[in-house]
Amino acid sequence: MESKNRKSVVIDDTTLRDGEQTAGVVFSLEEKKQIASTLDEIGVGELECGIPAMGSEEQASVRALVDLGLNARLITWNRAVIADIEASINSGVQAVDISLSVSDIHIEKKLGKSRDWVREQLKVALGFAKQHDLYVSVGGEDASRADLDFLVELAELSRSAGADRFRFCDTLGILDPFTTYDKVKYLADRVDLDLEVHTHNDLGMATANAIAGVRAGARFVNTTVNGLGERAGNAALEEVVMALKHACKIDLQLDTGRFVELSRLVGQASCRPVPEWKAVVGEKVFSHESGLHADGVLKFPGNYEGFDPAEVGLSRHLVVGKHSGGHGLEHRLTQLGIETNRSELEVLLKKVRSFAQILKRPLSEAELLQICLDLRNVA
Ligand SMILES: [Zn+2]
Repeated sequence: MESKNRKSVVIDDTTLRDGEQTAGVVFSLEEKKQIASTLDEIGVGELECGIPAMGSEEQASVRALVDLGLNARLITWNRAVIADIEASINSGVQAVDISLSVSDIHIEKKLGKSRDWVREQLKVALGFAKQHDLYVSVGGEDASRADLDFLVELAELSRSAGADRFRFCDTLGILDPFTTYDKVKYLADRVDLDLEVHTHNDLGMATANAIAGVRAGARFVNTTVNGLGERAGNAALEEVVMALKHACKIDLQLDTGRFVELSRLVGQASCRPVPEWKAVVGEKVFSHESGLHADGVLKFPGNYEGFDPAEVGLSRHLVVGKHSGGHGLEHRLTQLGIETNRSELEVLLKKVRSFAQILKRPLSEAELLQICLDLRNVA
């Protein structure tokens, strides 16, 4: 069962739902269409694309995405309420996520209800969705704090009522990868239904927890581009896909070479520019400065790069600064068309290092050329 799951892991990207739900983020319809089309072209299998119950504008934007005729399955987010599911049907989607609070904390302190009430809501909402031939993911909100046997019961209830999968949500981002693995495995061992993991980054572990969920047997995994999402965000699409590929040897066969393009698109649309050091897609994550590393990369990139930057659409940069060594500097100067002898190189290296110390950054091309020029004029 595990090997079957590993081969068929499906990304359910929720940039257009949980991503846009981030406080202060609003996408225009044009941006939504562009993001959805790019995700689809890259090969993402499923897009969670909105909450039709929010109103007519959201319904129109979901309808516009349906009209794009993408290969990816479009799925909407719904409370376990018939009116919500009707709004989704009216928006033209054929798949719904039906979300229920499943932890006793949420059931008692948020809703003032009981586990029986949750069971009943599930039966009614799921029954209605299946009557309309919808594909259904039952979403367990706050599943990470729920009683595991109650989760098993709800997942089993979902399966017997025709649900297609059960979503385990670490809504508050409070788990670590080991606990995530144990909890998802507990479900996978007891319920014959596809599982999905939805993780948040409040403790910086969204990607690690998503990977742990897949390793425990989840077949579906929620992501957002750049990790955009409520509070500290969700598991980042680009991180999950590259981690599955390189750390877990599960290649989803996506067109990852467009990850940087997609990342910049979402960065701009969300008004949240991508930090230069952002894992996988940050502009500078393949920059090398230290003498040892630059020398190693020049000899063989695999010495200090876990994967080829071109795999995600980035380029390698060798920068010249405080930590540079002779080999890296010589390489950079050759690129700029400057030949140097050994003694010149030694003097230049000292000057480069002291300038970088003063500037508190690497030297630009113009600054490097100026230092060379000054040195030769003095000589
Ligand atoms: Zn979420």
